[in-house]
Amino acid sequence: MSTLLPSHLRALRREVADLKETARRGRYAPSPTGPLHLGNLRTALLSWLITRLQGGEWLLRIDDLDTPRNRAGAEASIREDLRWLGLLWDGPVLRQSERRGLYATVLSALRRSGQLYPCRCSRRMLADISAPHGRSGVYPGFCRPLTPRWGLEDQRLPSWRLQLEPGLLRWPELLGPEGCLDGPTEVGDVVLRRADGFLAYHLATAVDEWALGISDVVRGLDLWPATGPQVAVLEHLGVEPPRYWHLPLWMDDQGQRLSKRDGGMGLAVWREQGVLPEAAIGRLAASLELVPEGSCLSAQELLQQCQLGTLRQQLSKA
Ligand code: GLU
Repeated sequence: MSTLLPSHLRALRREVADLKETARRGRYAPSPTGPLHLGNLRTALLSWLITRLQGGEWLLRIDDLDTPRNRAGAEASIREDLRWLGLLWDGPVLRQSERRGLYATVLSALRRSGQLYPCRCSRRMLADISAPHGRSGVYPGFCRPLTPRWGLEDQRLPSWRLQLEPGLLRWPELLGPEGCLDGPTEVGDVVLRRADGFLAYHLATAVDEWALGISDVVRGLDLWPATGPQVAVLEHLGVEPPRYWHLPLWMDDQGQRLSKRDGGMGLAVWREQGVLPEAAIGRLAASLELVPEGSCLSAQELLQQCQLGTLRQQLSKA
């Protein structure tokens, strides 16, 4: 695929991130929908560890575009938990809500280069036709052949979809299942801007990985399927995807994954029980068998005793 990025976008990237092109850079990107639970904290620890083991910078990005789901005080509690654990990030906290101008600029560039098409299918209509057969969530491409009329129709603007070419989307996956999904049949033409103007999470996230020069994305295995659409956006921008590390989810005693919204257990409970940061790091690391149960060590001490190669092997077995 040809390189899309016009020079003004390249310049924008340099301006936005003031990047050292060669540096390794990781990010932790929670949504501020509630206090972090133990699974989130474990992902944060691993993201920090994997980045610092490579001598890289570690950024904290708050994924707060989906405003109705944001909870007051959640960002402050995230920052406090990370600091308490000794997981200190570099530079200012980045918020997606403050970066909408960047996403809109990239969206216009994609639109002008003919890689997006307007779509007038409603969610309800798509739900009706996909059940019970079609693969849920994969858009069947109804609006592809229509003339790109993009103005108001029935008082509604269209949404904008990225047109995926036939072929596989691939990314370097260091931990989860092989990074490979078929574009048209397993991912489908992704909405990047909804009819109501909402900029899609996949657009914002892909643009941020590129604009911030992220080399390693460490996140939960539940986000593995989201990598397809994000890699599709990166491909259309003509840039290489970062390396992805999709970590196993933390399950509760009933085998259910923890959830922020259900108030999945977080540091507040451990703090009430008098658990100190070193014991908390020990517990988080022991849950992945990186250290023996009952270990007490700071994040820095954990960093001293880990190596990237062996860490990856240990994590693959966990
Ligand atoms: N903000 C999203 C979440 O917390 C995605 C994070 C990511 O891409 O790492 O689930």
